[in-house]
Amino acid sequence: MDFRETGYGLIRAYIEKRATKDASNRAAHHRTAHHRTARPSAAHPSEARPSAAPPNPHPNPYPLRTLFWECTLQCNQYCRHCGSNASSATSKDIPGADFIAVLDLLKRRLEARGWPLPFLAITGGEPLVRKDLSEVMHVAFRELGYTWGMTSNGVALSPGTAARLAQAGMSTVSVSLDGYGATHDTQRNAPGSYETTMANLINMTKNRVFKRIQVTTVVNPHNMDELETLHAVLLPLGLTSWRLASTDPIGRADESLMLTGAQHRELFEFIVSHSDERLPIIYACPSHLGEYEQRVRDHPFHCSAGQETMSILHNGDVAACPNIPAHDDTIQGNIYDQDINLDILEVWDTRYHFHRNRDIMFSEFCDACDVWDACRGGSRHSFDFEARTQRKCIKKMLDFERERGR
Ligand code: SF4
Ligand code: SF4
Repeated sequence: MDFRETGYGLIRAYIEKRATKDASNRAAHHRTAHHRTARPSAAHPSEARPSAAPPNPHPNPYPLRTLFWECTLQCNQYCRHCGSNASSATSKDIPGADFIAVLDLLKRRLEARGWPLPFLAITGGEPLVRKDLSEVMHVAFRELGYTWGMTSNGVALSPGTAARLAQAGMSTVSVSLDGYGATHDTQRNAPGSYETTMANLINMTKNRVFKRIQVTTVVNPHNMDELETLHAVLLPLGLTSWRLASTDPIGRADESLMLTGAQHRELFEFIVSHSDERLPIIYACPSHLGEYEQRVRDHPFHCSAGQETMSILHNGDVAACPNIPAHDDTIQGNIYDQDINLDILEVWDTRYHFHRNRDIMFSEFCDACDVWDACRGGSRHSFDFEARTQRKCIKKMLDFERERGR
């Protein structure tokens, strides 16, 4: 599909206007500097190749690997565990053209430096509530060359929508499934959603619509007993992986959804005993996992927020990882701030002090911890920025539960 056929004139016009401005800036530069430099333009993908010149060395040691876009805070479900507190209320989301402008500038700056483009991870709310999503991402992929994927509750991922997103270059999807049948519907306050999500999932896996198709389950005491049943349902689908996470104390998740140390152990034993090449099962990124480190995921604990991961929130705020509740220490600016003016690489180069100071999360909570060097205070998203202490540590829960059992 040619982008021009979509009729999404706003973004097209923006990029062309920007390209014209670039061209006149270049001409002015030539007039004053008396030399020629080829500069790729996002409006012309054929030109948008890394320059043959050697990459500029740059002192920033933190590679930008993943850029999240929380494209909306609106959602068509109301999950009990939602870390973003998303709801059906309309959120003030940045226009797609402004997101494209950020990507356009980022691409040109990265290419000048010889750095690859980050992977775009689209999240929400429910991303598919945004009616312009596939058009915006079509530009990001076809015109600017970004690869991208999305997390979704799957309800709106009908065969037609999935095909349109694949056309727009979407290569990965992670679909939420938080229990079997009514358990899923209750957790998400969305009657009938299990059946719709499963039907959409079956279509996507059967027709291999995306390169990687993952299911994510947020585990709580109410769906723990259904993991065997879910495993039996998911096994024949040929998923890339099944990602399990336990509920964290963020957003509107309350105590009744948190697993105990013993339940975490049960969850990890489930992963160890059921994961195989037919359906790889992995635990999500949060927390040091003590004796289960690298047994239930293939890499040691590392909170990549602000070190490899950046995000643009629905209102244009620039943050580290979208799972971290907004706080002065975590919001690094806004794409519309005059000193940023859409240049998020400048933000990446010069800010994120909290995320890059390896000792800043030390508190009494971590005192005398035998894995401090490997963990450094745990996940940023479960850190209490007011009390300056960690709120959840699975390693500690497992240790406590083992001690108590002796
Ligand atoms: S803040 Fe949490 S979700 Fe984000 S990268 Fe760190 S551990 Fe993962
Ligand atoms: S006590 Fe602190 S350093 Fe130790 S595993 Fe938990 S969060 Fe990490």
